[in-house]
Amino acid sequence: MPRYEYRCRSCGSTFELNRPMAESSAPATCPDGHEDTVKLLSTVAVGGSATAPAPTPGGGSGGGCCGGGCCG
Ligand SMILES: [Zn+2]
Repeated sequence: MPRYEYRCRSCGSTFELNRPMAESSAPATCPDGHEDTVKLLSTVAVGGSATAPAPTPGGGSGGGCCGGGCCG
């Protein structure tokens, strides 16, 4: 179940709720009982490779002279 973060505009505190995605925009109540809350944009941490594989130069089509049959 996704976790959403909310901020209470009454007391300024932030809190998190685990709720279904269908209820992500439903009103959330502050732990202190305040109902004036806003939903924060949650930062999704995506684990993966930091460096993208670079395309090999001259190995593909386009731009290379030897790829077009002009070399020989
Ligand atoms: Zn509050």
